[in-house]
Amino acid sequence: MARYRGPVCRLCRREGMKLFLKGERCHTEKCAIERRNYVPGQHGKDRKIKKIVGYGLQLREKQKVRRIYGVLEAQFRNTFAKAVKMKGITGENLLATLERRLDSVIYRMGLGASRSQARQIVRHGHIQVNGRKVNIPSFIVKPGEEISVRESSKNHPTILSSRDATAHAPAPSWMDVDREALKGRIISTPRRDELVQIPINEQLIVELYSK
Ligand code: SF4
Repeated sequence: MARYRGPVCRLCRREGMKLFLKGERCHTEKCAIERRNYVPGQHGKDRKIKKIVGYGLQLREKQKVRRIYGVLEAQFRNTFAKAVKMKGITGENLLATLERRLDSVIYRMGLGASRSQARQIVRHGHIQVNGRKVNIPSFIVKPGEEISVRESSKNHPTILSSRDATAHAPAPSWMDVDREALKGRIISTPRRDELVQIPINEQLIVELYSK
């Protein structure tokens, strides 16, 4: 399945909630959910919101989480398979693993305005892990590993403007971030209560993949 390349606000409108895919705009009144909170499409406004149940509900929840993290279906399934093998609760392991993706970590450090911008920053080779360049957005960061912007990219305008734009937002409790030095590390794997502000019922995804 190809990555969705259309207007991202449409995805939020489809889910009926803010998925925070666009960076700063998401926090302003320009956000499409603030302005037009109905399903996209020509007749979206007139369409009654159907109550989704069972399989449909599980499917929507999975799509929602995939969209938040910008992960393709195959990769999402892989992450789920790893989460099943880990100790603890599968749904929580899934979310914690997605959060530890390098692109998500860069976003959480405030060095990308959105996860998709953070993904580009990683892909373009601006980031290193423990001093070695890593340009794979799906790289899973382990607690203790140091994530930093490479010396040659420290003046990169996108990185610096994201950092400045997110200066007001505190770093997540499970990370130690030095914004001035453009580096940070994960202190410990995030607990469920430390994760995403968007309401997610990960148990529905576990049910979907357990059929
Ligand atoms: Fe667009 Fe962000 Fe609002 Fe979603 S939350 S509709 S991505 S501006």
